[in-house]
Amino acid sequence: MLSAILSKSSCAACKFCCSFRRQSLWEAPLFPPEVVEKLSKPNEYGVVGEFCNGKIALGPYHTENPEEEVQCTFLDPRKGCILKGEDKPFDCSIWPLRIMDKEGELVIALTPTCPSIGKVPTQELIKLLQKGLGEKIFRYAQAHRYIIKEYREGFPIIYL
Ligand code: SF4
Ligand code: SF4
Repeated sequence: MLSAILSKSSCAACKFCCSFRRQSLWEAPLFPPEVVEKLSKPNEYGVVGEFCNGKIALGPYHTENPEEEVQCTFLDPRKGCILKGEDKPFDCSIWPLRIMDKEGELVIALTPTCPSIGKVPTQELIKLLQKGLGEKIFRYAQAHRYIIKEYREGFPIIYL
């Protein structure tokens, strides 16, 4: 979550972005190879993850209901994400922002499904991006291109 803007208490009560329906598995977090290696073995968190091409492998689903959600392996339902900052995917730390490729151009877009972000004035978000976060996201994405998602309709672009 974008902790500079979102309140920890509303995120703790929500946890929407740490749970995935089948159709939102494309959003499941991608981890850098060194973190995958660490979290695939017994580790300090006491939770071993399964990964596929850097993405946390989630499931199984237990019903045919497309609304069924499965939680991220590293979510504690009471405390939230158990990972420390250095092991948390960059994607998760900037949610609900997304770096996307729109016809060959990198853009920063807003995920419309976060229930809290609509309460934050867009100008406030843009100011945060202009103050350095935008450049930080672009730099990270250039060095870790696997986090770049293909642009999807309905995601408002707020920074180019
Ligand atoms: S979806 Fe939004 S409000 Fe909910 S936990 Fe994620 S960042 Fe917080
Ligand atoms: S790694 Fe942490 S923040 Fe990211 S989806 Fe899993 S529990 Fe949520």
